[in-house]
Amino acid sequence: MSKLEKITNDFTPVEIDPQYILQVNALKKYFPIKGGLFNKTVGYVKAVDGVTFNLKRGTTMGLVGESGCGKTTTGRAVLRLSGEKTGGQVIFNGKEVYDLTSKEMHDMRTKMQIIFQDPFSSLSPRMPVGEIIGEAVREHGIVSKEEYNDYIDKVMDNCGLQPFHKDRYPHEFSGGQRQRICIARALALNPEFIVCDEPVSALDVSIQAQIINLLNELQNEHHFTYLFISHDLSVVEHISDTVGVMYLGNLVEYGETDDIFKNPLHPYTKALFSAIPIPDPTIKMKRIVLEGSIPSPANPPAGCKFHTRCANCMEICKHEVPEQKEIEKGHFVVCHLYDDVKDINE
Ligand code: SF4
Repeated sequence: MSKLEKITNDFTPVEIDPQYILQVNALKKYFPIKGGLFNKTVGYVKAVDGVTFNLKRGTTMGLVGESGCGKTTTGRAVLRLSGEKTGGQVIFNGKEVYDLTSKEMHDMRTKMQIIFQDPFSSLSPRMPVGEIIGEAVREHGIVSKEEYNDYIDKVMDNCGLQPFHKDRYPHEFSGGQRQRICIARALALNPEFIVCDEPVSALDVSIQAQIINLLNELQNEHHFTYLFISHDLSVVEHISDTVGVMYLGNLVEYGETDDIFKNPLHPYTKALFSAIPIPDPTIKMKRIVLEGSIPSPANPPAGCKFHTRCANCMEICKHEVPEQKEIEKGHFVVCHLYDDVKDINE
């Protein structure tokens, strides 16, 4: 029987930097695998395995990658929604989120919200819409009793919902309207940071555009910061200021949206982006098809985790984990192809 791997949590702590609303440093989130006669921990699913990024106030970071790469777990771990972290730091507004007491976390919850992928299952079918939006408003005392009704009407109106519909139930609304209800529920708490977890994937294309525009308008008005998780690269390009590309629990490339889309560096990013349709029939797409499926995060490949599928794989890739390098200002990549390229900070 193989010995259980020891979890290490060695990272260099970052200084709090007030220019960022969110600093994520070497974040790890492992889930234990139980087995055997005594239901002991026999291994770990390394869903998030050392993710680092910073987010400026009022900006949007897109997080992309295949299903199972750890995007959603990263979003949930940032919000402290999946129990304790395994390692690293999550600093929100200058405070380590995982050091907060339950009372402090309760207060912080209003500032950090999430919009889920499936607007139907994330809304209680037995509650009228006004109650869904207002429940947490009352719980957190966002407005006084006298102001409550007007406040809910205003939030609904801001999100393109008719306030006189507040006594209706979720099943009486279309998919796009239900997602607006989810946005209104998050917005009502007056948050600063919102994790948008595939918020438009379940919607028709025309409705997707409406929701994306609504998120943009609300950001301009309220200066929200978004972590926008999606596998739809066109949507991410449209909405994001910065983009992180995830593979098997790690960020393999990270930078300004323009830099990432115009000059992708990592072989995985290049393969992902080669699948974006070009709206010009005269241009022939050069699609890079990745062989095989994403390996199990319970048993990731040694060295570079992408080496089992990479067309550029070299011998070193099979044994040595590549280091992150800043190749141009704000553009980071983790790949041995750039071992000879100087990090701009060196
Ligand atoms: Fe490919 Fe090697 Fe770069 Fe990994 S480190 S992406 S295997 S070239």
